Amino acid sequence: MKELISKYEEYRKRLKAYHYAMWMISWDSATEAPKGCFGERAKYTGVLSEESYKLQTSSERIDIINKLYAGKDKLDSVLAHEIVEAKKSVDKILKIPMEEYVQYRMLLATSENTWAEAKTKNDFEMFKPSLEEIISYGKKFAKYLETEKLKGYDLLLDDFEPEFTTVEYDEFFGILKKELVPFVKEITSKKLEYNNSFESKTYPRLDQIEFAKYIQKVMCYDTNHGLMKESEHPFTSGVSTKDVRFTVHYYENMFTSSIFSAIHELGHATYNQQIDPELDDTNVGDGASMAMHESQSRFFENIIGRSHKFWEIHYSKLQEIFKEQLKDISLEDFYKSINKVENSLIRVEADELTYPLHIMIRYDIERMILNNEVEVSELPTVWNKMVKEYLGIDVPSVSQGVLQDVHWAGGMFGYFPTYALGSAYAAQIYNKMKQEIDIEKILESGTTKEINEWLKEKIHKYGSTKYPKEILKLATGEDFNPMYYVNYLKDKYSKIYNL
Ligand SMILES: [Zn+2]
Repeated sequence: MKELISKYEEYRKRLKAYHYAMWMISWDSATEAPKGCFGERAKYTGVLSEESYKLQTSSERIDIINKLYAGKDKLDSVLAHEIVEAKKSVDKILKIPMEEYVQYRMLLATSENTWAEAKTKNDFEMFKPSLEEIISYGKKFAKYLETEKLKGYDLLLDDFEPEFTTVEYDEFFGILKKELVPFVKEITSKKLEYNNSFESKTYPRLDQIEFAKYIQKVMCYDTNHGLMKESEHPFTSGVSTKDVRFTVHYYENMFTSSIFSAIHELGHATYNQQIDPELDDTNVGDGASMAMHESQSRFFENIIGRSHKFWEIHYSKLQEIFKEQLKDISLEDFYKSINKVENSLIRVEADELTYPLHIMIRYDIERMILNNEVEVSELPTVWNKMVKEYLGIDVPSVSQGVLQDVHWAGGMFGYFPTYALGSAYAAQIYNKMKQEIDIEKILESGTTKEINEWLKEKIHKYGSTKYPKEILKLATGEDFNPMYYVNYLKDKYSKIYNL
């Protein structure tokens, strides 16, 4: 056993070295690489990923993992968990025919471009053939990988959020549908009165960067092990607790976008920086799941970052940086502006309250697709019908409708639901946190230090050594309960809208 473990660790180290190199290159590609370098770059990253794939799929490594899996009861719990996950990916490699997998990857290599072009040209027919092919591969692969317990869409869902299938999601979205759809109708029938003149002003990029740096300090981001840059779409990425980076995008005509994406990404980054450093060299030194990661970013972005208390402390700093633009704007005006609810078409621009309804639409449609209940050609019509039903608005074009997200072009079916689940985890975690520490008082101190510490102890330190369901239960003392999310939203927005 000892020898097997050390051989496994040797493979892991070599694979991590490839991963490290590719991570660094992809960070550079998204932030600072000159446009002209990508042809040359693709050639060498191709070699790196081929070498890494060979190592990953070598029969010796697969054999080691199978043997360790057979004896997993004798391993310590952290390594055992890692081996269970390694075994899952090994099974994938073995069950999906190599040739089909290569063809699928080739399809994905072009489908994102096809999607982008179709979206620009507002032409669903252009993307339809690619989407049909992606879906047919998805179904085929699900068939290869199905087990006694997991089949079809459940298999894809479980891949993004372990132990969450249509059973859990149906219940979750059922509650949201029942509770939130009528609530949103009530809220959006009212108008929020405030001085919104500042929303149309220009906010120089450099000033926005200054405020994003201020937010880093507020959230105690460790810049000795982290870095902030700019990219087209904000993201966070890290290889260990020693190096966790994030990006922001600055729009001069929409300055709150960079504020909330900085807070959001810092939520992700705080999670990664606070994982037990002992896990750095393992494969379980990342977040527990997509939804758990999203719970941390959304907790900071929405529950903390859009709270009245947060801006009672930090609005004066914002006013100091944007003297001209905010001089006649009160804290109340600003608070209302960042919490305004509107039925809108685009998911990524949606407010905190209507956001889960956008996810519900995608969940319903994905489930229909995987259950063969809808043809690809019918998707635009089905989409528009659901937007009308849940959000009460008409979709004027496919680029603002069914073509707006890149996920399906990347073969990512089962990913969307984790966004809404993350927000719901966040509300449940918040409910527990409130009982144990005085959040408002902590915010008054000027930083989120003690909030970070609470999260580290309850959630972050575990990395992915446990599944999210278990971590949530350890942190909050109970199983997942979506009512915390519903109540949090109803409470907050009833107050803002004077219901
Ligand atoms: Zn996020």
